[in-house]
Amino acid sequence: MKEKYSQFIIVGGGIAGSIAAYACSRLKKNVVWFCPKNENLEGAIQIPPNSIRFLKNLGCFDNLKKFLNPISSIRVRDQNFKQDLSSINVDQQYFTIERRNLLISINEQIKSNANISIINEKIISFTSNKKECKCISASGDEYSSEFILGADGPSGIFRNNLVFKESEKSKKKYIFRSVIKRNKHNSILFQSSINLWLDDGWHIVYYPFSGENYLNLILVGKNSLKKLEKSNDYELELLKGINWKSINQDDIIEEIIFNYERVFLIGDAAHPIQPHLAQGAAQTFNDGSVLFDNLLSNGDDFFNLNRYANKRTKELNRVRNLSFMAGKSYSSKGIMSKIRNKLILRSEYYLDDFLKELWK
Ligand SMILES: Cc1cc2nc3c(=O)[nH]c(=O)nc-3n(C[C@H](O)[C@H](O)[C@H](O)COP(=O)(O)OP(=O)(O)OC[C@H]3O[C@@H](n4cnc5c(N)ncnc54)[C@H](O)[C@@H]3O)c2cc1C
Repeated sequence: MKEKYSQFIIVGGGIAGSIAAYACSRLKKNVVWFCPKNENLEGAIQIPPNSIRFLKNLGCFDNLKKFLNPISSIRVRDQNFKQDLSSINVDQQYFTIERRNLLISINEQIKSNANISIINEKIISFTSNKKECKCISASGDEYSSEFILGADGPSGIFRNNLVFKESEKSKKKYIFRSVIKRNKHNSILFQSSINLWLDDGWHIVYYPFSGENYLNLILVGKNSLKKLEKSNDYELELLKGINWKSINQDDIIEEIIFNYERVFLIGDAAHPIQPHLAQGAAQTFNDGSVLFDNLLSNGDDFFNLNRYANKRTKELNRVRNLSFMAGKSYSSKGIMSKIRNKLILRSEYYLDDFLKELWK
């Protein structure tokens, strides 16, 4: 059994782990990073204006530019109307990026840093007390540190240990995802817009990425697969028969938790958010940006990390409330869904203002 000591242990090789490792590498912290090989890097994420701000603050935006797919508008649509319910111009302020390229670009900037030791395995347990932390790796080695940054996602070890067991479990969610390639029959779908189709108790979002050659799709709602198959809208008909993968979200507790003794969480481990406002990755970048700013200040890292946790808890509560409102509105059924769509159609500034509030 080997033993190793570092200032920080980072656990998780997704967006949150990579952002944490990037922030620490810029701050020249001494880090052991548990970064198991990522099995599923399919699909893309949206980069709204607030993500751009956070990535610029972190210093990694310029290196991502070559992978960005520009988006010119956000279109909110209804199968029964030919006119968009709302169309928001986001030209030059909004992008999409393939998940794989985002991670490759960030990780390339970290690998050259001698202060970061990368271990391509999982941890199987951890301990934390007022003085230090320890992690045991899958191969049985022991690593101790001053702090742990837990970035192992919504079903990881840290969240499972830290979230109170009596918390109410969230209701089962029906979320499906897919990626399709452009061909001569479906090219109408590959315009530079985020398309949000609202319907009766279900909705679908799709947007292009990687030079508008691929489309990332998310379908939400209990009977959404059946309802999509029945659609006779010209564009939605092009999505019939594609392969959907179910995203299992039924065992995720949505409570926000950022710290416990010397463990500090980042990304979905701290705050699993429903995908209604495309803020999962954006809030992870925000975590990274606030973490970076706080660790940059002189003084005690424990004090700085607690400041990070307090600031992010407040901000996340605001975003989670907005996301909850959006989720309620998207899932309206029957007459309520018709009223919702009419209201959006008539209130020109409503969505614009809502998004400005979200991204501020
Ligand atoms: C289909 C889908 C579409 C999405 N679209 C968007 C979008 O458009 N915009 C947006 O902002 N967000 C989106 N999100 C959310 C966004 O991807 C996440 O919020 C963001 O990636 C943060 O992820 P994370 O790194 O915290 O967690 P994860 O991506 O879950 O990564 C966790 C990592 O921890 C590792 N790990 C787990 N256990 C251990 C262990 N014991 N030891 C070591 N490592 C471990 C895993 O291997 C994994 O690499 C989407 C999510 C999904 C699923």
